[in-house]
Amino acid sequence: MIIVMAQKAKTDQIKAVMARLEESGLSIHASKGEERTIIGAIGSKTRMNEMTVESLPGVEKVVPILEPYKLASRSFKDEDTIISVRNLKIGDNAVQVMAGPCAVESREQLLTVARLVKEAGATVLRGGAFKPRTSPYSFQGMEEEGLKLLAEARTLTGLPFVTEVMDTSNLSLVAQYADILQIGARNMQNFFLLREVAKTGKPILLKRSPSATVEEWLLAAEYILAGGNPNVILCERGIITFENYVRNTLDLTVVPVLKHLTHLPVIVDPSHAIGKWRFVKPMARAAVAAGADGLLIEVHPDPARALCDGPQSLNPDNFNLTMAEINSSASAMGRKVGCE
Ligand code: PEP
Ligand code: MN
Repeated sequence: MIIVMAQKAKTDQIKAVMARLEESGLSIHASKGEERTIIGAIGSKTRMNEMTVESLPGVEKVVPILEPYKLASRSFKDEDTIISVRNLKIGDNAVQVMAGPCAVESREQLLTVARLVKEAGATVLRGGAFKPRTSPYSFQGMEEEGLKLLAEARTLTGLPFVTEVMDTSNLSLVAQYADILQIGARNMQNFFLLREVAKTGKPILLKRSPSATVEEWLLAAEYILAGGNPNVILCERGIITFENYVRNTLDLTVVPVLKHLTHLPVIVDPSHAIGKWRFVKPMARAAVAAGADGLLIEVHPDPARALCDGPQSLNPDNFNLTMAEINSSASAMGRKVGCE
């Protein structure tokens, strides 16, 4: 249930309501808005019913949360969540562009690409050090060596970086280096991993599984929120449909749908959704027009030689052209790319 405190509720009254709810075994998540405090109480309703809560001093009303996800819902928190990553804000009006190679392959490859995406206006560097590959014989990533190179690229360019964490055995290592932890599409419903990444308190970029409904995706986000970590960024990366010309189908409808259902920031990854570089630019432009808070785009200095996802990676020239279109799309929407 959601407890809406009266505008004039005193701090003592808010504390007393929270204590009462906690005593009854409910877990409490308070959101202090400019005008009033809203308390989300989650747990079995039978322990304390809505009528009892409504009678407590300072409470204006009690509203049941009808969605199966609670903390992720707009009914719990109306204001957009804004996530700070170093000097960036993800989820305010600006468009953040996360760009870089699918995988870190070498020092030269990474530093080259980091410099060029920074120059083109990207605000976050991406790069995989632990790679979830369909075949066990494909390149699996440089692991800690890759994380060290990402950290070096961060020092060189000032760009924070996002990288994937695949399992709990390497979580503390990845968390030591990364600014944003990526949960890949294949791990979206790895609930144990979701609980563990929540504990790091770091921003989590949660990719949608290609076969997940919006509800399943928001319930996955709920695991992280309920674990005490409010910093979840949702990333649409294509879903499975009957269409097979492209890798997956980019579900741009989900951007306004999520903006309606949740307060969490939403970014779009056209690279993995489409799988073909030539369609990345128009869909990046469209994602910004649809209201996405940012983009995740694969860029490689020489895509033909990439060890992973070359066919969908933009070369430097195409990334520059894409950034120009992202800028035009953003300004048409009254928005900016990068810091506000
Ligand atoms: C990636 O971002 O490199 C990746 C593997 O993405 P996904 O989990 O969406 O397939
Ligand atoms: Mn990739």
